[in-house]
Amino acid sequence: QFDLSPPWWARLLTGAQRRVLKAVDDVTFDIPRGKTLGLVGESGCGKSTVARCVTNLMVPTSGRVDFNFGGAVEPSTALSPEGRRKVQMIFQDPYSSLNPRWPISKTIAEPLKVFGLKTSRAEIRDEVRLLLETVGLHADDAHKYPHQFSGGQRQRICIARALACRSEFLVLDEPTSALDVSVQAQILNVMLELQARLHLTFLFISHDLSVIFQMSDYVGVMYLGRLVEIGPTAEVFRRPRHPYTQLLLQTVPRTNLVGQIRAPLSGEVPSPIKPPGGCSFHPRCPHVMDVCRSVAPKQTQSGAELVACHLAAG
Ligand code: SF4
Ligand code: MG
Repeated sequence: QFDLSPPWWARLLTGAQRRVLKAVDDVTFDIPRGKTLGLVGESGCGKSTVARCVTNLMVPTSGRVDFNFGGAVEPSTALSPEGRRKVQMIFQDPYSSLNPRWPISKTIAEPLKVFGLKTSRAEIRDEVRLLLETVGLHADDAHKYPHQFSGGQRQRICIARALACRSEFLVLDEPTSALDVSVQAQILNVMLELQARLHLTFLFISHDLSVIFQMSDYVGVMYLGRLVEIGPTAEVFRRPRHPYTQLLLQTVPRTNLVGQIRAPLSGEVPSPIKPPGGCSFHPRCPHVMDVCRSVAPKQTQSGAELVACHLAAG
């Protein structure tokens, strides 16, 4: 059977703001249902701000985020309770996002009760056991407390809680950066399996290009609050068009995209409070031209990608 459901997408638009810190500016993207958009960039580039806007933890001063779960388009600021349930976030530090005084069964059961998804005690208990098994934990550990689990196991518990909401869209903000490299791969695999099985949509945020490469269908590269390049992951990695993306990719060993970024980029990231004029990447750009110092490049289509660089504009 063909899936003829209407396209699902999340769109974030933030416009010009004056006299306020522009943590994020002019960032626009769609994510089709069941796909992953990876957002990558150095720390302070605005990735987490985007995540916060998408999950309504922060309201942009201008611009908006819209959701379409196959029915009407809903703006994030006026999501129905059902819409709110479907959008969940997974944070970097699984420990601080779990209540240490609650057994994990209570943590996972909470959304089932709050959203009225299960009502009888027996149903809730069975569902919690099923969710724990779904994320690769033992159902018999439901009575244990967060401190009795490892970091990777705690992240699995957070995923189980998000699934308990019957979530359809997960915002994952550096979900594995606090974990050991060996555990990272396991958690990423759990997420990929669940995505395929449950047709989940991800906004996946990471500073680690190899993780983005593994996880994402589309990748957006952010620099100082702006999206400088966005396109299909294979395209962007094979032929990065923005000089910043090119530099970022040079820091990753091509033969082994699994692993950490080895060498940091040269040059300081300028302060987002006083970003450089023109193209904000110009102080670090090896291809800088006169025009770059005064004129901010607009996003232009280049193949399947959007690139904000005077060179791409031709
Ligand atoms: Fe470099 Fe100019 Fe392109 Fe900015 S617009 S990335 S400074 S070439
Ligand atoms: Mg961050």
